[in-house]
Amino acid sequence: MEVKFFTPTREYAEKKDEFDKAIQSVLNSGNFIMGRQVTDFEDAIKEYTGAKYAVSVASGTDALVITSDILGFKNGREVITSPFTFLASTSCIAKGCAKPVFVDIDEDTFNIDAEKIEEKINANTVGILPIHLFSQMSNMDKIMDLASRNHLRVLEDAAEAFGMKWKGKNSALYRHSGTIGDMGIFSFFPTKTLGGYGDGGMIVTNDARLAEMAKMFRVHGASKKYHYDYLGYNSRLDTIQAAVLSVKLKYIDEAIEKRAKVSDWYKERLNDCDYIKIPDIKGEQKPVYYVFNILAQNRDELAAYLKQNNIGTSIYYPIPLHLQKCFDYLGHKKGDFPVAEKVSKEILALPIYPEITEDEVDFVCTAIKNFYKK
Ligand SMILES: *Cc1c(COP(=O)(O)O)cnc(C)c1O
Repeated sequence: MEVKFFTPTREYAEKKDEFDKAIQSVLNSGNFIMGRQVTDFEDAIKEYTGAKYAVSVASGTDALVITSDILGFKNGREVITSPFTFLASTSCIAKGCAKPVFVDIDEDTFNIDAEKIEEKINANTVGILPIHLFSQMSNMDKIMDLASRNHLRVLEDAAEAFGMKWKGKNSALYRHSGTIGDMGIFSFFPTKTLGGYGDGGMIVTNDARLAEMAKMFRVHGASKKYHYDYLGYNSRLDTIQAAVLSVKLKYIDEAIEKRAKVSDWYKERLNDCDYIKIPDIKGEQKPVYYVFNILAQNRDELAAYLKQNNIGTSIYYPIPLHLQKCFDYLGHKKGDFPVAEKVSKEILALPIYPEITEDEVDFVCTAIKNFYKK
């Protein structure tokens, strides 16, 4: 048996007619940039997430760069974030010449340790950028409380967090990731929970002025054609991607449920394995298993063994950002963020997608147990 880490082809095969029809309709219309399907998809995202405004762009990375620019994450101001994430969550801060200020992660959730944020806030701090990673959201109660007491902007990197919802202690309602802070972003990179057939991203906000700016920024800063109010970007979601994503959004609840079922299969089978730790979900929230991670003893040997057995795995993230060459100038050294560094050596992502079968999960778990029996 071979178990791929990720495959989009099973879903395409299942719904081929629907995807083909959606793509064909764009080809027939010839409206490849900002076609009707783009607005339709933005409306569907508003409806699903409860955000007042949704502005699609070319990628999650662009969404982060544009929102960082709009929120004033630039010119030497400080933005507090986690070093245990994908590069784009921090490069968006550094690109505008703001200073990323890292806070270590919680060892159970791998998200920013919200208890350690306050000590990093000073007169130069302009914002907090939490990343909702892998399966669960950061502690938004604490983050929003700190932000309102210190007049900070909050940008939620919800690139991996489509479908995740936070209730917290003080609310009666579950609110979708990305809609709690000033602005939030999603990525539609093919592997993501809501993944397209190429790159794509979305900015969400409940603030009319911020939404207006995002709309201008994606078309070079133009308020109307050839009238440039800002120095913006060229970053739009392709109409073809919007058409594909609209099909996927129709089935997203089903896909999220299947991911939850797969994560239960893993938990049932791996719970009694002493060499493995499965992360906890913390806080009152609805998780979504975009990634299923374990912390594993002898992680690199285990990954090599699984590879030999035709099982794909992945490591998110092997090197925390404070130790990346591009951030040398921040002056960090090994040991500065010990939890992130420890987790980066033990974490391993197992195959998870709605179409994976129970037999395949069995095969993965048996291989893991066989490795530790050796
Ligand atoms: C995927 C991802 C991004 C970037 O999204 P792209 O659409 O690939 O540009 C940003 N942040 C996090 C946490 C991600 O996982």
